[in-house]
Amino acid sequence: LKENNARHLWHPMGHPGEAQANPPKVITSAEGVRITDIDGHQTIDAVGGLWCVNLGYSNATVKDAITDQLARLPYYSAFAGTSNPTAIEASQMVREFFAEDGMARVFFTSGGSDSVDVALRLARQYHRLRGEPTRTKFLSLKKGYHGTHFGGASVNGNPRFRHAYEPLLPGCVHLPAPYPYRNPFDETDPAALAQRIAAVAEDEIAFQGADTIAAFIMEPILGAGGVIVPDPSFMRLMRDICDRHGILLISDEVITGFGRTGDWSGARHWGVQPDMMTLAKGITSGYFPVGGTMVNDKVAEAFEGADADGSIFSGYTYSAHPVGAAAVVATLEETLRQDLRTNAAARGTQLYEGCLRLKDKHDIVGDVRGGHGLMTALELVSDRDAKTAVDAETVKRVHQAAYEAGAMVRMGPPNLLMSPPLTISEAEIDAVLSALDTGLSAA
Ligand code: PMP
Repeated sequence: LKENNARHLWHPMGHPGEAQANPPKVITSAEGVRITDIDGHQTIDAVGGLWCVNLGYSNATVKDAITDQLARLPYYSAFAGTSNPTAIEASQMVREFFAEDGMARVFFTSGGSDSVDVALRLARQYHRLRGEPTRTKFLSLKKGYHGTHFGGASVNGNPRFRHAYEPLLPGCVHLPAPYPYRNPFDETDPAALAQRIAAVAEDEIAFQGADTIAAFIMEPILGAGGVIVPDPSFMRLMRDICDRHGILLISDEVITGFGRTGDWSGARHWGVQPDMMTLAKGITSGYFPVGGTMVNDKVAEAFEGADADGSIFSGYTYSAHPVGAAAVVATLEETLRQDLRTNAAARGTQLYEGCLRLKDKHDIVGDVRGGHGLMTALELVSDRDAKTAVDAETVKRVHQAAYEAGAMVRMGPPNLLMSPPLTISEAEIDAVLSALDTGLSAA
């Protein structure tokens, strides 16, 4: 198995030869918040799969719901002219989760990249239906991550995920990230930085022409870019700018939706109602690949009663897959029953405060980010004053030592990222912190 893992399975984030030099870990089983690898080593999964396993690994309700649905109706999607009862139920539940955010309608997809692609397409189509076909461009943030399809890759703000595939969608403009630790203005005050970026946004909109911009997309807390928490004013400022210029606001909630931040949506922390939301990950807690694109009434109404131009052509064979829908219904029932946003908030604070103590102890920790639920990052530096980022080898060394000491964290050099299941206990967070302490000592 180990040899075939390196030889035949093509792993992202590495070329084929790298898998031989640096074999990816083979995980063979999992229970609760713990995973076991092919060598029998057990650790706490402080990554929650890939920010997705909110409920932990052995939720009987979700497993039973999937099995029952497989026996009843394994396939019939909501595509051209058909639907299924479980998907209808799932759409109602998702809508209830985000009614407070103004969301009215959901389009189901197979994952986060699909959801972003659909949102970008719907944004252009929305303007076209309203007689503004010139609105085709998109604004986004540097360091943002929105998936791997051409749409998401085009608005992504990490050059690493873009350059090999250029040219991407034309007309994508990237604003500076709300990242007080490093930014082009050397502005360490988060509120002042938010004002600076808003000014850049206004300037870009004037330069591009307001009537050419379809939408602005952002993660309410930037995940893969290093758990960058914007100032509370930032998303509100951007909402106002979007309103002034007729631009739609898309909140990419693929990580932040369903409780991870300590509330059901990330946008809610900032008092913002977006026009659209993109969802995935926690929607099924990793038990089945499902995503969703939500729109508010304003967007939905533009499509109502329109002729054939109002049809959505972004359908997938697996849109509203019944087994996926069963996973959605059961996951969301469990998420509510266990009130996971409350545990995420409490355990998130514990993890964040523990990481701040690790910063006091280890000079290699340059910055700690988090404080809103179970999304936390440590940024590693070789020189604290100069903020010199450590090399990828050092991050790997810390990662491996933490893994051996009992916690799987995620590498995003120079960051270490954490997003454990929302079911994690106080004692398990302490165990993660202790493994990280060992990992950082190894550096
Ligand atoms: N948007 C965000 C904010 C994400 O974090 C991700 C995945 N990490 C995606 C979109 C893409 O989701 P997927 O990997 O399911 O395609």
